[in-house]
Amino acid sequence: MEAIRRELELTRDGAGTLASPGGSVEPVPFNDLAIQWGEIADKVRAEFEQVFERSAFSHGPYVERFEREIADYLGVPHAIAVNTGTSALHLAVLAAGVGPGDEVLVPAHTFIATLWGPLYAGATPVLCDVEDATGNIDVADAARRISPRTRAIIPVHLYGQPADMDAIGALAQRHDLVVIEDTAQAVGARWRGQAAGSIGRFGCFSFYPGKNLGAAGEGGLVTALADADAARLRSLRNHGQSERYIHAEVGYNYRMDGLQAVVLRHKLRHLNRWTERRREIAERYRRGLSGLPLVVPAVCHADHVWHLFVVRTAQRDALREWLTAAAIETGLHYPVPNHRQPCLQHLGFGRQSFPASEAWAQQGLSLPLFYGMTDAQADRVVAAVREFFTRR
Ligand SMILES: *Cc1c(COP(=O)(O)O)cnc(C)c1O
Repeated sequence: MEAIRRELELTRDGAGTLASPGGSVEPVPFNDLAIQWGEIADKVRAEFEQVFERSAFSHGPYVERFEREIADYLGVPHAIAVNTGTSALHLAVLAAGVGPGDEVLVPAHTFIATLWGPLYAGATPVLCDVEDATGNIDVADAARRISPRTRAIIPVHLYGQPADMDAIGALAQRHDLVVIEDTAQAVGARWRGQAAGSIGRFGCFSFYPGKNLGAAGEGGLVTALADADAARLRSLRNHGQSERYIHAEVGYNYRMDGLQAVVLRHKLRHLNRWTERRREIAERYRRGLSGLPLVVPAVCHADHVWHLFVVRTAQRDALREWLTAAAIETGLHYPVPNHRQPCLQHLGFGRQSFPASEAWAQQGLSLPLFYGMTDAQADRVVAAVREFFTRR
């Protein structure tokens, strides 16, 4: 507990407001969402007027239009909009028929919301280690953790790079597991030409503002391939209503707001171009940072949408302080691996080991990478990192 608290202190310190030393350099923020807003503001304002005039605030025609357009974009038959990515995971686990007594394979190194899905449904998350190269679930390790109670696997396309969906599909087929893709960080990424989140039986997306496709608030989406799954998801997100005032089962209020759907639909039209810019910055970083005693992210499976650019070094904390002093904001994703989270200790992870997850948690540092970041900003980050390693 004490160690975790110390790490969290560090998280807060480094992420504090940026001071510009001597006022001489422009700070490089970790993200700047106002740049996206600048490109959609006129159209979104006009459509907001319509939402208010029609009082289409909760679900309704604007949400349905967004659902159709993102279903087309992803190439899936069904897209069910919800209020958060966490709700998407919860509903996918329920629609998979997973409940108390069942086990669900999840990576140890991910945002904790991946685990909330199984936990909210009363199932047990079984943590698996991740690949050292990508941070994505290690399928060989997952195979070793399968028991007669294992019902599903939730691969996370971490930082925007698809997990190995061939190996995951083969494992799932062999053991009759439902595949639920946590695509919160990878909207627009592809695996062998198929959109991430369109390959498993369910795909879960988050539209939290900082995600590659971000709402002006909260938002999420579940995709489904089967008509019956889609019908169940639509019912579950709307109080378990199969028809009006008939509640076939205990449901939830997980509907999306009309205003969020407007923002998301307009942003979706720019998403591919915004992603291309992310790729340019990532390439610039990869070239600029080569040859240093620093692990730059590996691109193992052609398509990566660079939600985050996470480098690894044993000197992570010192590098982070150095960059903060140079007015460059960084992030930690995620400094406390899930097997060490206080709320999960009853699951007995203490006796298991997750060496690659530990390494990512202790060494990973997220550099700024966002749509609208300039080449000059990226070059300043590269120069500051190079200086850190050459000065000592
Ligand atoms: C953001 C995120 C979620 C949760 O999404 P919310 O919309 O914040 O509820 C789930 N999994 C991963 C990997 C995420 O990054």
